[in-house]
Amino acid sequence: MPEAIEEQARKSDETNPLVSMMSHFDEAARLLDLDPDLYAFMRYPSREITVYIPVRMEDGHLKVFVGYRVQHNFARGPAKGGVRFAPDVTLDEVRALAAWMTWKCAVVNIPFGGAKGGVICDPKQMSKLELERLTRRYTAQLLEVLGPEQDVPAPDMNTDEQIMAWIMDTYSMHARHTVTAVVTGKPVALGGSQGRNEATGRGLLVVAQQACRKLQIDPRGAKLVIQGAGNVGGTSARLMHQAGFRVIAMSDVHGGIYNPNGLDIPGVLGYMKENKTLRGYRGGDEISNEQLLELPCDILLPGATENQITSRNAPRIQCKIVCEGANGPTTASADEILEQRGILVIPDILANAGGVTVSYFEWVQDRMGYFWSERIVNHRLRQIMVSSFKEVSRYAEKHRVHMRTAAYMLAIDRVAYDTRIRGIYA
Ligand code: NAD
Repeated sequence: MPEAIEEQARKSDETNPLVSMMSHFDEAARLLDLDPDLYAFMRYPSREITVYIPVRMEDGHLKVFVGYRVQHNFARGPAKGGVRFAPDVTLDEVRALAAWMTWKCAVVNIPFGGAKGGVICDPKQMSKLELERLTRRYTAQLLEVLGPEQDVPAPDMNTDEQIMAWIMDTYSMHARHTVTAVVTGKPVALGGSQGRNEATGRGLLVVAQQACRKLQIDPRGAKLVIQGAGNVGGTSARLMHQAGFRVIAMSDVHGGIYNPNGLDIPGVLGYMKENKTLRGYRGGDEISNEQLLELPCDILLPGATENQITSRNAPRIQCKIVCEGANGPTTASADEILEQRGILVIPDILANAGGVTVSYFEWVQDRMGYFWSERIVNHRLRQIMVSSFKEVSRYAEKHRVHMRTAAYMLAIDRVAYDTRIRGIYA
């Protein structure tokens, strides 16, 4: 399989997330002068599984969906990573996302490896019952490789705490007892953690504040543009508005809204909750997602999906800081352009690590059977995000590289160290 992966990656274009991830990995490995054996080992995922999931649809016909789980690395602990439901999921995308989880967990120094799952489906066209059947079958087909000590899924695009509850229940039915620690991002009543739902947004707030301090920008009134209005975009908007940032634009998949004086964020989020879209909101001008990304602002927070900042629009991005809420929103070619233009990029594997950090807290609490208050969760999350930002920042200064390369170097170094002392490939 390695040749097949390389072949696919070589053939693909700038917007293949696996190509982007590999290019950052290669650059960091070169700068670290990584041992060739470790390099050879760490380039590849540990395991890739494709499942064909038969689901009886509401109209009585049977539909077979394709699903993936890629377990990238176990050197530092069980694999950890979300499951995404989307029509355009590809195996390369899941491979890249799984590797990013390995690097992300290592950047914030929590004891997990990386994994990711995806099912090709359009959840917006499916009933709740169809989604439940799909989730339960997908889980059942992966039973042997999931588990609190093996691989722990979490929510990602179009999956939520209800889907995590179904995964947990399906796994538990087969284990013949309740196993809460098999997933994170569950409802609080079923062993979920306080603060998990908003953890990614809260982590983004913390790193954005740190970046403002680094560039001597006053966060109060700093102009912020957010792409995406789901868990990451919506929560970031709420928390950053509360912290004094001025959110001047927001978008969802259908397009965006813009008000240079600042949007009324509680009003926008209320509208979004009621209408499930930002379309038609009257407190701002309509703009496209493309225009939104090029608005002049202090901070641009792409919080929707991959490949939004590419070599095509990177020369026109007009912010001081890119704070990556989504995974892989900037292609490797665009990253070079942003660096040359002196824009500070807080890379996804650091910026959006708040989610997996509180997932780690959830896993710990489930295993202890003892639950923490929201205040404690938020306090511990803040500590980890501040110290990780500072660590990556110091590393970048010391090695004269930008923040993304520094984050990859730090992560790869940690995974390499653990791989070597365990003697994993001996
Ligand atoms: P979500 O499904 O809750 O929301 C996604 C949002 O993006 C929606 O508002 C949707 O309308 C919008 N969107 C989708 N495609 C778009 C496009 N092409 N252009 C503009 N907007 C688009 O998903 P989420 O959980 O908020 O995840 C968003 C991103 O953040 C993903 O890249 C995910 O991997 C990453 N992420 C999520 C978490 C988490 O805890 N949820 C943690 C780390 C990283």
